[in-house]
Amino acid sequence: MNGRRLNEANSPATIGRRLAPIPVLFRKSTEQNQKLDQRPDVEELGKEEEEKFYCASCGHLITTGRWLISVDGGHEHTFFNPAGIIFDIRCFKEAPGAVAAGKSTDEFTWFQGYSWQAALCRGCGAQLGWQFTGDDAPPVFFGLIRDRLTTQAPE
Ligand SMILES: [Zn+2]
Repeated sequence: MNGRRLNEANSPATIGRRLAPIPVLFRKSTEQNQKLDQRPDVEELGKEEEEKFYCASCGHLITTGRWLISVDGGHEHTFFNPAGIIFDIRCFKEAPGAVAAGKSTDEFTWFQGYSWQAALCRGCGAQLGWQFTGDDAPPVFFGLIRDRLTTQAPE
């Protein structure tokens, strides 16, 4: 009896079943869970780098976070128009979803040396802000009204 038990306990199969498989399985599943937990973070980080701005009216993709530029010391500015209305604008080097419309003018311009035109949504024609054109760098940029854009992707 004693001899048989010892043999069973020391046989490679028993040792293997007792020690090896279970800890290895646990370790593997823990690794998998960690990877699953980490994945959304990585995606969110990517989203931040590639933040997309859509027209708040129609959902047309206007521009992305990579085009944000600093003009006159910042990429966000608050201005009054001649009617006294406040606009919070963000400056983008490029806004492929917007189109400049109307005559270029430097009347009441917010950025010295720059003329402006209305910048309209290519999707619905809503005014999103202004396109500024000047002789200095950058020669062209968009000042887009903060609350006329949304980072919420259309459904
Ligand atoms: Zn639109």
